[in-house]
Amino acid sequence: MAKKQFKAESKKLLDLMINSIYTNREIFLRELISNGSDALDKLYYKALTSGDSGIKKNDFFIEIVPDKDLRTITIRDNGIGMTKDELETNLGTIAKSGSQIFKDDSALDASDTSSKDSPEAKAKKAIDIIGQFGVGFYSAFMVSDLVTVTSKSYSTDGKSSVNRWTSSGADGYSVEELPDSAFDMPSGTEIVLHLKEDTDGENFSTFLEDYTLRELVRKYSDYIRYPIKLGDDTLNTMEPIWKRQKSKVKPEDYNDYYKSKFGDYMDPVRVIRTSVEGVSSFTALMFIPGHTPFDYYSKDFEKGLTLYSSGVMIMERCPDLLPDYFNFVQGLVDSQDLSLNISRETLQQDRQLKNIAKNLEKKIKRELEDFLKNDREEYEKFFGNFGRQLKYGLYDDFGMHKDTLQDLVLFYSSTEKKLVTLAEYVERMKEDQKSIYYAAGESIDKIDLLPQTEYIKNKGYEILYLTDEVDEFVIQMVQDYKDKPFMSVLSEDMSQDETEEDKNRIAKAEEESKDLLEYIKESLSGKIAEVKLSPRLTGSAATLTNKGEISLEMEKVLKSMPMAESQAFQAERILELNPDHEVMSVMKDAYGDGTNDAGKEKVARYANLLYNQALLISGLPVENPVAFAQEINKLITDQK
Ligand code: ADP
Repeated sequence: MAKKQFKAESKKLLDLMINSIYTNREIFLRELISNGSDALDKLYYKALTSGDSGIKKNDFFIEIVPDKDLRTITIRDNGIGMTKDELETNLGTIAKSGSQIFKDDSALDASDTSSKDSPEAKAKKAIDIIGQFGVGFYSAFMVSDLVTVTSKSYSTDGKSSVNRWTSSGADGYSVEELPDSAFDMPSGTEIVLHLKEDTDGENFSTFLEDYTLRELVRKYSDYIRYPIKLGDDTLNTMEPIWKRQKSKVKPEDYNDYYKSKFGDYMDPVRVIRTSVEGVSSFTALMFIPGHTPFDYYSKDFEKGLTLYSSGVMIMERCPDLLPDYFNFVQGLVDSQDLSLNISRETLQQDRQLKNIAKNLEKKIKRELEDFLKNDREEYEKFFGNFGRQLKYGLYDDFGMHKDTLQDLVLFYSSTEKKLVTLAEYVERMKEDQKSIYYAAGESIDKIDLLPQTEYIKNKGYEILYLTDEVDEFVIQMVQDYKDKPFMSVLSEDMSQDETEEDKNRIAKAEEESKDLLEYIKESLSGKIAEVKLSPRLTGSAATLTNKGEISLEMEKVLKSMPMAESQAFQAERILELNPDHEVMSVMKDAYGDGTNDAGKEKVARYANLLYNQALLISGLPVENPVAFAQEINKLITDQK
């Protein structure tokens, strides 16, 4: 029997398959089953269009027969089959898209040492190429050293010839005609794979085990619409839950499916099922988990939805279907418009996939809004689990996702004593209130005690307390909500929001104590950028605020990070003093007209004490605790 050579590009692909380091060898089964399913689809269509009533969909099957003695797996389908010519053209050449890629690509040729690519780079390239146009039928060579394809093409009179295609890989293939008796189906294809010998690293024999085959079918081909048989068993469920009539699926069904498919012990808090018809038609079934996965905030966590193309699973976690800020969503997408050959490497270029992803993002957003509106208590729990991710999303990409996310985040309110949305805050704003007030700190209690928050609270304004490390960074990125700017009550900018009366009073007091304030600043040189008087310190003598972008709280967060560059950030500190506090009059007296050296020395010591107490109130460490303690002791003993 004459051996024929594969076309040049096909040979390269075959080489790749045979020597593949491709980790996913098991997908050969999915590929062959899916070819069988296509062949059944084609036959069904042909029978419908030619009016052949002898063809019944109920008879359609795909069968897997492992044989341990012969070390073979047979995959049979009673689909449309192939003629002798079709066997040659379909299995002797690879798809056009593939041949394009192989042109001029000597870098892939393992024996070509002139290539500058390292073996690893070549391997990577090989995976990319396999991914780019799908592995298809040739994937059989990832696991076998001999493949025969026996096929009988469908014809209305059932009299097509039976032909067998045989190849052991790179050295070519042959096609021969067989007697009719060699085939026991009216039409169809029977593929026999002779498995490679096991090696140290690879166990091909596992594909002869029933349980492996069962598992692979369930994993990749569960929803193929024709029965996939192993002995008397049908391995696939055939009807996907997301294709069943909505009214026929009970909430428990979704919950059970979610738990078994995604390995969770808890029911999801929301189930999103949606179908879209249009440029990209698809069905999606998504779940919002009821708790944070244990690895959620670690780098091991992989986001993504399972991707099906017409019921055939093509990727377990397709990351490009979900934006990072919705990465907690689990589920699947099934689309007839997606190529089976999509791969991790080609995802990003796929227009259909992009369309679907955009659509899903909107759906998830709407679902979360609905969740927030109609089930506040549960939403707050959800927010406790995944809210931080939504906040990261607001911060990411320079605040680009503001419109999507700003109405989904919650912050603690000083007046409501619970979590509120930005919309609720703005709704309650007073007529004369220009900004959305916030204060960042370690805990609600600590923020509540700050002198500045007390002042704003006494004026009857609501403050958002930000206790999550990311919060203030997020707020700074977002900048405003419904045209209302955010304003930290702990920053010096806050003085803009003071009343005219307060402003005038302070200006006058600062003028009167100009020299004293200047002297205090001098004596604290290097520690602070400014000294000011403030109307906002009701009970306290002194406090720290900041100037510019970096707040004291942000400085704390940045300093706690391991990166060297984040250590360099320092908030520009302003020491604010309370003009009405008794401490201030003591300082004034001591300073006098500025000519008394003993008095000035006292002022310098007091200034240092005030600075240190302001640090403590802000939750920052005092610079020299021992010196600070000694100063206090000195104050006490001076009383003698
Ligand atoms: P693809 O399925 O992406 O076209 P494959 O390499 O898997 O590429 O298959 C090449 C062609 O061989 C298919 O398009 C189909 O025409 C034919 N073919 C493969 N398997 C079968 C089968 N079981 N029955 C009928 N035709 C088949």
